[in-house]
Amino acid sequence: MPTFGHLVVGVAASRGLDPRAPLRRRDTAALVALAALPDLDILGAPFRPALFHTPLAHRGATHALAFGLAAAAAAVALGLLGAPGRRRRALLFAALAAISHPLLDAFTRGSLGVMLLWPFSDVRFHAPWYLFETTPVKEGLWSGAWVTFLAKEVLVFGPLAIWALWSRATSTATATPTTTATATSTSTSTSTSIPTSIPTSIPTPASIPTPE
Ligand SMILES: [Zn+2]
Repeated sequence: MPTFGHLVVGVAASRGLDPRAPLRRRDTAALVALAALPDLDILGAPFRPALFHTPLAHRGATHALAFGLAAAAAAVALGLLGAPGRRRRALLFAALAAISHPLLDAFTRGSLGVMLLWPFSDVRFHAPWYLFETTPVKEGLWSGAWVTFLAKEVLVFGPLAIWALWSRATSTATATPTTTATATSTSTSTSTSIPTSIPTSIPTPASIPTPE
């Protein structure tokens, strides 16, 4: 699976971290980095023949759930995301962003599988069905394989991207009329309270003192 889907998950995690506030750059950058971090292992591509059956091969150790959880804990401990006093929530969404990567990769057709349980096991796991194709690196950029490949990505992650980027704008727009209505009702109640208070201050005939 390419990076697009992982990036969208990182942005969505940032939205989930504080759904009622605008996306914060620092949190978003940290969560996107956590969601994409496992693919650091592609740096070992030049050594692929030597690493092929080791945990250092693609989708090996860096795609383990333990690696993702450790990376999330380190990011929160270093203060890379999350407001002071809300570290638990930051840790939750950091962990979700980090472990989403290997779980999504398990839905990719044609890979060796993902070492989810490393260092306890070197078994590589596949999901029971496939959602994504392997990146067509050998095909031309404008080939049909790339079009199909990207179309699937947009179909699966497009709605999540829209929610993550625009849900705040929508909630702000719907909140404005409510504020206006409150202001209107306040001014109405103020205007009706004036005549109510006036008669109570007017002395009644019985209370007017009679001259002696
Ligand atoms: Zn990956």
